[in-house]
Amino acid sequence: MTMPVEEFLNHIHGEWVRSRSGRTFDNINPADTQDNVGRFQASTAADAEAAVGAAAAAFEGWRKTPIGQRAKVLNKAADYLEAHADRFGLELSREEGKSVALGRDEFLRAAQTFRFYAMEAQTFGGETYPQDDADMVVYSQREPLGVVTVISPWNFPASIPARKLAPALVMGNTVVFKPSSDAPLSGLRLTEALVQAGLPAGVLNFITGRAGDVGPIITTSRAISAISFTGSTQAGMHIQRTVHLTTRLQMELGGKNPLIVMEDADLDQAVDLAVKGGLSLTGQACTGTSRLIVVPQVKEAFTQRLLQRVQALKIGPGTTPGMDLGPLATAKQLETVLSYLEIGRREATLLCGGERLTQGVYAQGYYVSPAVFTDVTPQMRIAREEIFGPVLAIIEAADFADAMAKANDTEYGLSAAIATRNPKYMHAFAQDIQAGTVKINRTTTGNLVNAPFGGVKNSSTSTFRESGRVGLEFFSSTKIIY
Ligand code: NAP
Repeated sequence: MTMPVEEFLNHIHGEWVRSRSGRTFDNINPADTQDNVGRFQASTAADAEAAVGAAAAAFEGWRKTPIGQRAKVLNKAADYLEAHADRFGLELSREEGKSVALGRDEFLRAAQTFRFYAMEAQTFGGETYPQDDADMVVYSQREPLGVVTVISPWNFPASIPARKLAPALVMGNTVVFKPSSDAPLSGLRLTEALVQAGLPAGVLNFITGRAGDVGPIITTSRAISAISFTGSTQAGMHIQRTVHLTTRLQMELGGKNPLIVMEDADLDQAVDLAVKGGLSLTGQACTGTSRLIVVPQVKEAFTQRLLQRVQALKIGPGTTPGMDLGPLATAKQLETVLSYLEIGRREATLLCGGERLTQGVYAQGYYVSPAVFTDVTPQMRIAREEIFGPVLAIIEAADFADAMAKANDTEYGLSAAIATRNPKYMHAFAQDIQAGTVKINRTTTGNLVNAPFGGVKNSSTSTFRESGRVGLEFFSSTKIIY
C-alpha cells in the first residue's frame, strides 16, 4: 500500500497557505525515487510579493520588540529542534541523501546556532566616542536593516539557513526565506520551530518554488534591504547583476578546494583527510576537497593507500546505518557528475570508481562509485571546475612552492588544507594560500558556529563573512547619535 503524500504549505503573514498558482511540486528521495518526501507549493511572483509585503508590514513592530524577547524566540525554537532532531534528521536524509546521523547533527547544529545568536546579540552594541563638548554625548547604535531575503541550497538544508535566519531575526529584521526546491522540508521545519516559538505574524515568511518564478521578486524588489545567499557562483553572479543599488549582499558560493600533501606528512592521516574531506557527503560540500596536490616523494604511497580506502567505502542509502557515501542529491547532480567523469576519462587517468551504480539497492537512486583520477594537471577541466560529487583529482607538484602555485591556480578560494609535520610549511601555507578557511592537518570541510565563515575570489562576495559575530554585523547598520 502506498502512503498518501503529505502537502506542505507556504508561511505568509502568520498563516500556512497554498500558492495562488494552485500548483505543487514533489520533493523526491534521491536514494529511492519512488519515495515522495512531500508536495510543496509551486509559488508564483504574486506569492513572493505577498511574502515581501507581509515582511515589510511586520518590520516596525519587530524592530521595536525588546532584544530579550527576540532572543527568547530563538531559544524556544532551539528547544523544539532538539526535541524533534531524530524525526527531522530522518526527513533531511530522505530529501537530501546524507545519513540520518548527519541529518540529525544538522538540526542540533541549527539549534546551537540559534542559541549562539540569542546570546551573542545581547552583547552586540554600539560605542561611545570621547570628544570635547561637555554638553554632548556621541554614541553609535546597531539597527536592523529592514526586510531581508534568505536563499539557501540543498546540501545543508538546515544548518545553512539557520546561520542566516538567526542573526537576521535577532537583530530585528523581518525575513523572506526561500529554501532550495530540491530539499525544502528542512527549511520548513526551521520555520515551524520559529513560528511555534512565538514569532509574530509576518516576521518570517517561508515560500517554496522555482527560482525563475519567485527569484526576481525576492531579490530585486526595492523593499529588500539585504540578501544572504548560498549557492552556485553562477546563480550568485546573476543575482548580483540584478539587485537594487542599496541592497546589501552576502554570498557564499562555489569552491575547488585543495589538500596539499607534503613529503613529511603522516600519510595515513593525509589519506583520512582526503577521504573525509572529499567524499563524505558524497563530495557535495562547498568546502569539500577535490584537488589532492602531492609531492613526488610520497605520491605513489599516498595514492596506493588512498585507493585502498576509497575502494572499501560503503555506498548506500542514508537511512541504512554505517554507510560512508549516499546518493547524489538530485537527477541534475547525477547528470553533472557523470558528464565530468566522462571529461575526466578523456583528460586524465581514472584509477578507480566513476561508475553509475544501478543494481539492487542502487536501482532507484542517483548513485555513482567514488572516483580517483591521477595525472591531472591544473589546466584540465576536472581540476578547474566545481564538480560537486565524489571525484578526487591527484595533481603532482615538484615541491612546496609548486604545490602552493597549483593550489592557488583557481578562480575559487573557499577552503584549503595541508598535511605536513613541518611548522615552516604550516606557517607559509597559512600566510600564502588564497582561501577564506585554512586547515592544517584537518579536513577542508567543517567550520565553527562561533567563527566567521566565507571565501575569497569567486567563492564569496567580498562584503561580509557569515557565521559568528560578523553575522550580526551583516544584518545591521550603524547609526551615530550626537
Ligand atoms: P543553486 O542552484 O545556485 O541554488 C541555490 C539556491 O538559490 C536555491 O534555493 C535556488 O532555488 C536559488 N536560486 C538559484 N538561482 C536563483 C536566482 N536567480 N534568484 C533567486 N534564487 C535563486 O545551488 P545548489 O545547486 O542548490 O547548491 C550547490 C552550490 O552551492 C554549489 O556551487 C556549492 O559550492 C554552493 N554552496 C556554497 C556554500 C558556501 O558556503 N560557500 C555552501 C553550500 C553550497 P531553486 O532550488 O528553486 O533553483
